[in-house]
Amino acid sequence: MAKKGEHRATLGLVCTVCKNRNYVTQRNKINTVEKLLLKKYCKHCRKITEHRESEKLK
Ligand SMILES: [Zn+2]
Repeated sequence: MAKKGEHRATLGLVCTVCKNRNYVTQRNKINTVEKLLLKKYCKHCRKITEHRESEKLK
């Protein structure tokens, strides 16, 4: 039996413009292989920017 949450990775969503990590989300690595690229509001840029995932959480 696989442990619960074994394949779930916590990752951040980083603004591609200012490099700030604005969101934290979780993802199942088995179900989702591709890198995420989402358009989200960045409070630092004060506009909608593209956010990509970053697995490095400080
Ligand atoms: Zn930004």
